[in-house]
Amino acid sequence: MGKGKFYKRELGRFNLLKFDLHYHANIFRLSPDKIRTRMEQHKQSIQKSEIDFIASTEHAYKDPLTAYLYLKEAVNDLETAVIPGIEALTKEGIDIIFLYTDEESLRLAGLMIVPHPRTPGHTGAANKLSEKDYQTLLSQADYVEIHNGASVLLRQLFQKKYLRPLVPSVLRKKVEDTFELPEKYRGVNLGWAVSSDAHYPKDQVYVGGTHFDITAPETYFEFLKRRIRFEPHQVSSSPSMIPTLLKNGLCVFLEALLKKHYKLFLQSSKL
Ligand SMILES: [Zn+2]
Repeated sequence: MGKGKFYKRELGRFNLLKFDLHYHANIFRLSPDKIRTRMEQHKQSIQKSEIDFIASTEHAYKDPLTAYLYLKEAVNDLETAVIPGIEALTKEGIDIIFLYTDEESLRLAGLMIVPHPRTPGHTGAANKLSEKDYQTLLSQADYVEIHNGASVLLRQLFQKKYLRPLVPSVLRKKVEDTFELPEKYRGVNLGWAVSSDAHYPKDQVYVGGTHFDITAPETYFEFLKRRIRFEPHQVSSSPSMIPTLLKNGLCVFLEALLKKHYKLFLQSSKL
């Protein structure tokens, strides 16, 4: 990657710097043909949304280095820079994101992000840990994810009148909190990540925007170390619900819920 990509051109008054700090190339174990197609989709989507920085945060067990290299290759002709990262799983079963300065340091200490603390799945730190342990984890982190894109469709779905009575309020609250993390889960002096967590290009709806600028010779990494508080910035309209929800393979509970009420959804149409 050319070093020029780390420094932004002059920012106009109305321009935003756009970061997506949680993104998946999602090509693990795909055939070369499918990888080519998927990467072409990534490229088109990223080109359209004009994102400045995308963190490649493939799951640790899905070859994050290869995912990063493919994504970097895909945006080669674009203004977008790819930040190497990993979404790791702690022994407590919690997802944590690490960002690195370059591909060689993928194994060294970088920036630590606590993603989706309130996700309805089983990997949210705020759900899994005691209040005290959660605060301890935050005190070691650089960023907490205050918006995660996996919540966008579910939130829309749960707002449907006919569905409201079927959705347990605890689940609805978790989805709301994942869409916009309440203050009490944000810790003290942390940066705020706004991330799509997209596993397919069209799932990238909101990314993080900031009016702070990267001032040379500052690198994007030094910039991020300032613990920027990103605001949600919409880069595309959200995709249609049912196919996306089904494809994304949500947590077991939600899949069961969907299966049970799938017919109801179809009958009610207009999703
Ligand atoms: Zn993820």
